[in-house]
Amino acid sequence: AQHFLQRGQAHAALGAYVDTNTDATLAQARAADARIAAGTAGALEGLPIAHKDIFVTRDFATTAGSRMLKGYRSPFDATVVDKLAKVGAVTLGKLNCDEFAMGSSNENSAIAPMGSDSVQPVRNPWNTERIPGGSSGGSAAVVAARLAPAATGTDTGGSIRQPAAFCGVTGIKPTYGRASRYGMVAFASSLDQAGPMARSAEDCALLLSAMCGPDPDRDSTSLDVPTENFALKLNDSIEGLRIGVPKEFFGEGLSADVRASVDAALKQYEQLGAKLVPITLPRTELSIPVYYIIAPAEASSNLSRFDGVKFGHRAKDFADHDSKFPLLDQMYRRTRAEGFGDEVKRRIMIGTYVLSHGYYDAYYLQAQKIRRMIADDFQNAFKDCDVIAGPVAPTVAWKIGEKSDDPVANYLADIFTLSGSLAGLPGMSIPVGFAKADADKGMPIGMQLLGNYCQEARLLNAAHRFQ
Ligand code: GLN
Repeated sequence: AQHFLQRGQAHAALGAYVDTNTDATLAQARAADARIAAGTAGALEGLPIAHKDIFVTRDFATTAGSRMLKGYRSPFDATVVDKLAKVGAVTLGKLNCDEFAMGSSNENSAIAPMGSDSVQPVRNPWNTERIPGGSSGGSAAVVAARLAPAATGTDTGGSIRQPAAFCGVTGIKPTYGRASRYGMVAFASSLDQAGPMARSAEDCALLLSAMCGPDPDRDSTSLDVPTENFALKLNDSIEGLRIGVPKEFFGEGLSADVRASVDAALKQYEQLGAKLVPITLPRTELSIPVYYIIAPAEASSNLSRFDGVKFGHRAKDFADHDSKFPLLDQMYRRTRAEGFGDEVKRRIMIGTYVLSHGYYDAYYLQAQKIRRMIADDFQNAFKDCDVIAGPVAPTVAWKIGEKSDDPVANYLADIFTLSGSLAGLPGMSIPVGFAKADADKGMPIGMQLLGNYCQEARLLNAAHRFQ
């Protein structure tokens, strides 16, 4: 733990950590040592881990990347944090992320990282001029730079898989409902899922086994599926595994480098005995408009709790006696205007619009119907294959600032991860190569594996055999 805390400090310029608490970390590490000495070690005893700053924690501040929660301290630990601590994991600190997990580049955080007094983008350790991906950008960056052996992330529309791909690490988002959402600052509740990011599928399997499990009292959408040891099947043969290759994931807009690395990985799978099966996911393109209606709709509802009354930021000077609004409304308005960043405000506006009377049927309801069709398309595809493989993102990590003024360009880059999220399927990202083209030379490339519901063990097995 000491080693990794020191590394974190030495590489503060990456901007990955937003809070650390050396005393708390070392106290946890000493307790782990004591359990090891007593012969009562848990499965991950003494493993240093860092958490995305979207999980609430007692010993560390929780901001979710937002001015709204700057300095906020939760009275309890998120279930995922708690479950990892129960098997002995030691928390190194909290990791930068896009505000309320809304973003694909980690450029939407409003929180200054440790060692800096101004807001800074998280940097990709492979090339510090590039973004690490988002929204779990800090998580991917610390694992890639070896500032932590593992980190937690959350994935609503790709936020574990895409930053894992951009930073050359392994990440898995389990089936919706497998990990409790209790204590995860909510973005879009029907999509949000926690998962691990680490150096290998094997590490992810060990971490995921600790993170999952039913939680009916605290998360009503928690799946009633027993906890599994995901590491048990890692070495199973993948002879005869049917890998579905969706043609829609290899169309226009896919960079030549990404295509070449994913194609090479698929060939390697064939050498391992897998069979490639062409499949179709005909509504892939629709996943962008569908997700960017449903996610903001849920976000606008979830974020209504930030009213300056219960917790978080409250504007100081809000009283304007010439205003036509009552004083309480003025407080709400000023608090939310100050507390939320541009991307969050954009989504609140989109979300309230698509949910409003007169537009609900045309947008939200329509999007929900197509969401069902997207899930059905996957079930059709899984008749012919066991897992689905393709790129995680159309390109490698882009330059800091390159798309920061263009929200739609960010949304479009989510094309390959959104459909799996909308269907609630487990998905993972594994590193498969590096870009060769001059402009992007050396940037990591990830391959996505999607499985049917609760098929995490199969995904991890396929990933492990490849690695
Ligand atoms: N990039 C997507 C968004 O901005 C997904 C984010 C996520 O998975 N948290 O909403």
